[in-house]
Amino acid sequence: MEEMPTTTIPHIVVLPYPGQGHINPLLQFAKRLASKGVKATIATTRYTVGSIQAAGITVEPISDGYDHGGFTQAQNEDAYLKSFKHNGTKTLSQLIKKYRNTSFPITCIVYDSFFPWALDVAHQHAILGASFFTNSATVCAIFSHIHDGTLALPVDFEPLVLPGLPPLKGCDVPGFIKAPESYPAYLAMKLSQFSNLDEADFVFGNSFQELEGEEAKSVAKSWPAKLIGPTVPSYYLDGRIEGDKGYGASLWKPLSDHCAKWLATKPPKSVAYISFGSMVKLTSKQTEELAFALMHSDIHFLWVVRDTERHKLPTQFVDATQHRGLIVSWCNQLEVLANGAVGCFVTHCGWNSTLEGLSLGVPMVAIPQWSDQMTDAKFIEEVWGVGVRCREDEFGVVRSEEALFCLREVMEGEKSEAMRRNARKWRDLARGAVGEGGSSDECVDEFVANLKIVKAQKGERCVA
Ligand code: UDP
Repeated sequence: MEEMPTTTIPHIVVLPYPGQGHINPLLQFAKRLASKGVKATIATTRYTVGSIQAAGITVEPISDGYDHGGFTQAQNEDAYLKSFKHNGTKTLSQLIKKYRNTSFPITCIVYDSFFPWALDVAHQHAILGASFFTNSATVCAIFSHIHDGTLALPVDFEPLVLPGLPPLKGCDVPGFIKAPESYPAYLAMKLSQFSNLDEADFVFGNSFQELEGEEAKSVAKSWPAKLIGPTVPSYYLDGRIEGDKGYGASLWKPLSDHCAKWLATKPPKSVAYISFGSMVKLTSKQTEELAFALMHSDIHFLWVVRDTERHKLPTQFVDATQHRGLIVSWCNQLEVLANGAVGCFVTHCGWNSTLEGLSLGVPMVAIPQWSDQMTDAKFIEEVWGVGVRCREDEFGVVRSEEALFCLREVMEGEKSEAMRRNARKWRDLARGAVGEGGSSDECVDEFVANLKIVKAQKGERCVA
């Protein structure tokens, strides 16, 4: 009889939602696991498969049902998620079967918490499922309370007081929990993350003990997440993964050389780096106000304005500021944040950007737009003390005077030095967490050890 192949190492497959802010942390987690002797594969949509290239990580296509355009082809978020569930279930199953009789049968699917159906697929095939949350522990705690019924919607009182969390004002929470009807599909998706979480074999959060240990502990019963972050390339933290200088995934082409050359001509800490991430679409009015703030200052700036957003810039802006400013359609954000010429990070407070700012010790000007960004902004300013948050006017717009005031406050104001000190403190704690024996490192080691035990129990040969 032909002998079944034997394996020596566990094989995990990470399955991110196909957005930049989801691929980055899951891919980085895969790299961390691979560095600890696990075979790691990323399963991503056919549309994004060509945008991912990371040493040591296998890239496998699955289908969301929109193979030629991804999300933009879908009618809306709801239709997209339904299609992803239907087609993803089928193609993820096929992927699991593809590896079944090879040297690397799949041991565990680490799925984006947006895809609870992936746990069912994993269990149908008798393999493990680990849910990976890409929001902060605090935001996960809020949604966990809503799911448990310990926080009723709509949240209509201020401040919101939840055990283990600082009091939260109306502007500190995702808008759709005050007005659930405003984004029903998105709210449903946020809550669905918890729908079968009690059946998950592992739960992971992209944060770290020193940063949000208390917040995570406060909901540990419903959200038993191990904090394994920040999932920032190793070069910027512990340096233990050789050559790991970037995420290895880019849905747009980064203008790295152009940025580096331009930054090299600027004095230390003189540049404001401005980015609103991969998804936010500022209103024309908000774009204008920010542009006017920069026009009326003498600050150097590097602003990422995606091509689809560029028409919102005031006509005279580019000419009027070209001696001080560089506008690019996309950059390598980590390289920019790590550049000594950068003095502050004007951010929409997406969780990856927030973690990157903290990990690289760059103080921030927070201009959150929606969802979890509101909560992240509160922590940046009030809890971690690494930035200031711009106040909106009665129409929800950050006016140019306010933006300029906050920029100056962070770059050179009275509290600037204290913010820089705090930023350095969090940077060092982030490095410590992922470094050898750090809090996140221990959680990753524990996961790897568990995977090896499970393989051994299944009768598959494992290295020690
Ligand atoms: N990013 C980048 N280049 C840019 C802007 C953003 O590489 O010009 C990356 C950034 O480093 C981060 C991700 O895109 O890892 C954005 O994720 P985040 O959670 O901050 O925001 P989202 O795009 O999900 O709103």
